[in-house]
Amino acid sequence: MKVRISACRARLRAPFTAAYGELAQRSLIVVALEGEDGITGFGEAAPLQPYDGVSTDHVRAALEDCTALLRDCDGTARAELLAACRDVAVLPQAIAAIDLALWDLAGRRAGEPIWRLLGASEPGPVDVNWTIGATDRAGAAAEADQARAAGFGCVKVKVGVGDDAGRLAAVRAAGGSGLTIRVDANGVWSSEEATAALRALAPVGVELCEEPASGVEEIRRVWTASDVAIAIDETAAAPGALEQRCCDAVCLKIARSGGISGVIEQAAQADRAGYDVYVASTFDGPLGIAAALHVAAVLEPRRACGLATLGLFEGRADPLPPREGRIALPHGPGLGDGLTDWYRVAG
Ligand SMILES: [Mg+2]
Repeated sequence: MKVRISACRARLRAPFTAAYGELAQRSLIVVALEGEDGITGFGEAAPLQPYDGVSTDHVRAALEDCTALLRDCDGTARAELLAACRDVAVLPQAIAAIDLALWDLAGRRAGEPIWRLLGASEPGPVDVNWTIGATDRAGAAAEADQARAAGFGCVKVKVGVGDDAGRLAAVRAAGGSGLTIRVDANGVWSSEEATAALRALAPVGVELCEEPASGVEEIRRVWTASDVAIAIDETAAAPGALEQRCCDAVCLKIARSGGISGVIEQAAQADRAGYDVYVASTFDGPLGIAAALHVAAVLEPRRACGLATLGLFEGRADPLPPREGRIALPHGPGLGDGLTDWYRVAG
């Protein structure tokens, strides 16, 4: 196969604040694998350094380490090829890009969408949450209003960033009692702080708290002490986290899990342990979001997925726009048609 690796820098409409810091733009890497039949599969690496500690340069180097392997094959023996790539490149973000490109290639060769290759049948649109980016009460309330008007049933609010109680109360007042409010602390609290914070926030009505603390044992302590449902996100990557349940739910991500194959594998493991599974993006581009939608089509998560993030980018038309709080599966074979133009726009 011919291997092409290219970079894309995409600016957000407004800097996004989470407990790990402020994010103003995204660096993504696109991998194109072209077979001798002239068919090309595309994949994306979406490391998010302040969140996962992985830099774009490291991912690029890992991908370059895999190019000799990729050049020497036609992409049909996907599992074997991925295993060989994992041996030379340990970064799941790099493996994810290769995995997505191989699935895309397989789907294009078969003329079938990936969801069908994964065994789903005619999936409906996927429930997604709105992510509230505003850090002040009035801004958060305005976004909750906008989310409701756009038909979203669930919003996610970052916590551990200051005035959590004030912003949540404003979101509840604007969104009404029917709005599902999810919070995410990105592991910033200790288990004691998390337990106290969730006790204070619970009366507003919280669906769940993602990553209230960091690490399996800390999270387990919060889960035991708190009435609010708890999910792991970053901690899902910790050794043993998916084998033995330490809370209610787990959020899996294409970039961190090593692509579609990795999420499917980890979701099965998490399901066996008794976790509720849902998927989310790390501000992925359309290839990553599409991959997560195909995965959601087979996993059928009962909670909203964090995939409505393409609208946060500036100057790029969203090829997978949410409608009434849901995103439809992309049309066309492989990951879907019309997903790669997004990356060519100068950021
Ligand atoms: Mg999270």
